[in-house]
Amino acid sequence: MGASKVRDLFRQAKEKAPCIVFIDEIDAIGQKRSTGAGLGGNDEREQTLNQLLTEMDGFEGNSGVIILAATNRPESLDPALTRPGRFDRRVPVELPDLKGREAILKVHAKKIKYDEKVDFEKVARMASGASGAELANIVNEAALRAVRAGRSFADQTDFEESIEVVIAGYQKKNAILTDQEKKVVAYHEIGHALVAAKQTHSAPVQKITIIPRTSGALGYTLQVEEGNHYLMTKEEIENRIATLTGGRAAEEVVFGTVTTGASNDIEQATKLARAMITRYGMSDDFGMVAMETVQNQYLGGDTTLACSAQTQAKIDEQVVALVGKQHEKAVSILRENREKLDQLASYLYEKETITGDEFMNILDRP
Ligand code: ZN
Repeated sequence: MGASKVRDLFRQAKEKAPCIVFIDEIDAIGQKRSTGAGLGGNDEREQTLNQLLTEMDGFEGNSGVIILAATNRPESLDPALTRPGRFDRRVPVELPDLKGREAILKVHAKKIKYDEKVDFEKVARMASGASGAELANIVNEAALRAVRAGRSFADQTDFEESIEVVIAGYQKKNAILTDQEKKVVAYHEIGHALVAAKQTHSAPVQKITIIPRTSGALGYTLQVEEGNHYLMTKEEIENRIATLTGGRAAEEVVFGTVTTGASNDIEQATKLARAMITRYGMSDDFGMVAMETVQNQYLGGDTTLACSAQTQAKIDEQVVALVGKQHEKAVSILRENREKLDQLASYLYEKETITGDEFMNILDRP
């Protein structure tokens, strides 16, 4: 902060050229200048920004100083800063893909000792959607887990278990479920997995567990995409919604009653159904009209509704109908496969954690 510090920074940079000036979190000084300034509040910040702009303009073509800056909030930057001629290039940094995740894991793994048989591709595949920071955390957790087990290096299970630690919260060893609760959770999770498996275009099940997590989840079903997936078809989203309702559907089919265990599923299914109608143009009634706009795509952030109250009511109706239809589909899949549902649920109840292969073996058994 401070115009003189900026002047000094660039004086040093020119002396040391060729060099790179890197400004992290540039939004701290580069925020939009307020039009009604003069009350003194942000004077220093604005002077800093003005000086920065001046310095950036003052460069001759080849003064050998390259300016790099990073921000999570590009939309909050002052337009003068993002105008052509100031920063020449913008590089959006997205979440890493499969190859990227594997490479990031390997970079961080260099700092710890690990079994040379560790299959990083498999770990990367299981950690789909993880950010760079989360991957670093996974490696760190793997090392800690190995130490706790009294080993001098991390092995495959350490890495795989760490994904769950980072993504799903710690395994809660002392949470005690009643026998009946455990049974319900087993049916609930198998419900998800079975609905997923009986539909086309569903990611294969990798692991199902009913060991509670500290995050509050009593169990979960891990599905892993083959390869990278950037586009989802309408059918795939519908199938995903059906899979999400599968847990609750199993409770209904088997016990004839429902529990609070499906709250997160319900939230996710509703979000997807809403997005289909308001953002993806997948509703016959509304077609390709955006009823909702995303404010901050970099942080996966907020959406704003842009339609009349009547339309909003109609959207709500359609969301209910869409989720309802997929829920019915899930129920009928489970009814048709009731025998498998029972077999798989009691196997899971017994073992507490089963792999995708074990799941498929029982499913394919005549
Ligand atoms: Zn569920």
